[in-house]
Amino acid sequence: MTECIFCKIIKKEIQTTKIYEDERTFAFLDISPVNYGHALVIPKVHSENLLEMKEKDLTAVMKTVQKIANAIMKGLKADGFNLGMNNYPAAGQLVMHSHIHVMPRLKNDGLRLNWPNKKYANGMDKDVAETIIKHL
Ligand code: AMP
Ligand code: ZN
Repeated sequence: MTECIFCKIIKKEIQTTKIYEDERTFAFLDISPVNYGHALVIPKVHSENLLEMKEKDLTAVMKTVQKIANAIMKGLKADGFNLGMNNYPAAGQLVMHSHIHVMPRLKNDGLRLNWPNKKYANGMDKDVAETIIKHL
């Protein structure tokens, strides 16, 4: 746990560009931004991913995400923003401390953050939906 780099950032053991902090959350600039102002919002209590997060941290993180997104829109004159959260290595998660990316977007910024898509075969969407619903 002491090796977690985002926990170290919260404890100020690693330098970062902090933009916001409150009782439960911390927000700082991503070191490799997709656009200038790309921020990460994290819970102060360590959890590896969304599924491990406690309700109070989920709520607090989303409130901070909204606050940062609003400041990015106003301050950086962004035209929009993407939110992203990679969960588990199969989804591209590199840092195993829950974090939400807030990525400013500008008209014609040339970024491609849309995923390629698939088509459902006949009836398959219903089966998939039923499987998910059973596990809610
Ligand atoms: P991922 O786990 O795939 O969401 O990616 C982790 C993100 O954390 C990447 O966008 C990195 O650029 C960012 N990152 C990693 N180390 C640092 C750091 N020390 N300070 C700021 N951002 C970081
Ligand atoms: Zn951590």
